[in-house]
Amino acid sequence: MSEAMLAPKKRLVMATKEMVEAQKSCASAFTPRAETDTTQAAKVWHEDDNFGGQATKALVMVLKTRGCDWLIKSGCTMCGYFNDSFFDDVSADHIILQFENAMREHQGEDLIKIYTSGSFFDEREVPAAAYTQILKRVGETTGRLSVESQPQIMTDAQVAEAMTHLKEFEVGIGMESAHDDVLAHSVNKAFRFRQFVAGAELIHRHGARAKTYLVQKAPFLTEREAIEDTTTSILKVAPHSDVVSVNPINVQRHTLVADLYKHGAFRPPWLWSVAKVVLDASRELPDGVTLKCHPVGGGHARGAHNCGKCDKRAMKALEDYTLGRGTIRLERLFETPECGCYSRWQWELDNEGLLGAACWTDPVVW
Ligand code: SF4
Ligand SMILES: [Zn+2]
Repeated sequence: MSEAMLAPKKRLVMATKEMVEAQKSCASAFTPRAETDTTQAAKVWHEDDNFGGQATKALVMVLKTRGCDWLIKSGCTMCGYFNDSFFDDVSADHIILQFENAMREHQGEDLIKIYTSGSFFDEREVPAAAYTQILKRVGETTGRLSVESQPQIMTDAQVAEAMTHLKEFEVGIGMESAHDDVLAHSVNKAFRFRQFVAGAELIHRHGARAKTYLVQKAPFLTEREAIEDTTTSILKVAPHSDVVSVNPINVQRHTLVADLYKHGAFRPPWLWSVAKVVLDASRELPDGVTLKCHPVGGGHARGAHNCGKCDKRAMKALEDYTLGRGTIRLERLFETPECGCYSRWQWELDNEGLLGAACWTDPVVW
């Protein structure tokens, strides 16, 4: 039987075998930056955000830690966070130094966002002494902190301690999909939906907020399957989330997705698909839940894109929605598509599953 005739689940299971082998070759092509200075954060920048429903200025820092525990063992197929990781233990003193050096850039922003390219609650990344010191310092300055973590790693004691220092605390969870088949065979995630629910309950128990990240178009899914996966995932995670952020997959170096892309076996999602997911999900979203979508690399070959002529229009519609300006531009996109690639996209939705293979025609840029 041809692969085209297989049900999606069986196709995903077949893909897993290939995935494990490819993941190994991607990892071996990567050389950790051993000489990196661990007293300086990997990146620091300023950005506008929407925090707790309020437009907010944020100071953002990426701390250099040993990296995500799951990534060291195996890793998610689309994740290039290890490009900023150190791959060896970083002492509490150096984590604090990185934080303090990054805080020199603080220009009165209301929110501090700390990424570790892994889990803020993992003591192998952020030792307990550094964790406490960072919370104290944020408590003395803005009192508002946003971090990320895998849900099965955090503990009640850690979140309770954070809430003794902070006014507002947001914990982001990279759930990617609410469907365990997709998590197991396409994303290669370390946890499953029930662990996400337990993590979100823990966060809410202490008065913190849960921000859930989902991907759109995990590898081995057709364009149509990816629309279905992300739309239903939004509605499944929404009752457990304060914010749901949809992240169309962009191609990051040294990942399995990059390997597939290089061989013409992965196309990031169409912006038509991303707009459809956001518009459809927005109509059924529970009250009090914010849906965001800011496609990284949108309009470029390695990010969600259309034909090149209509990408700006789709990106503007998504931006308007994310900034709280409603769905009018998203609706207009589909009422008056105004671009020939709209029918090309529809053709692909109807035929990619039948062909059992990618059938896009845009040039692949490496
Ligand atoms: S997506 Fe998150 S859990 Fe997966 S490898 Fe990257 S940092 Fe680790
Ligand atoms: Zn177009």
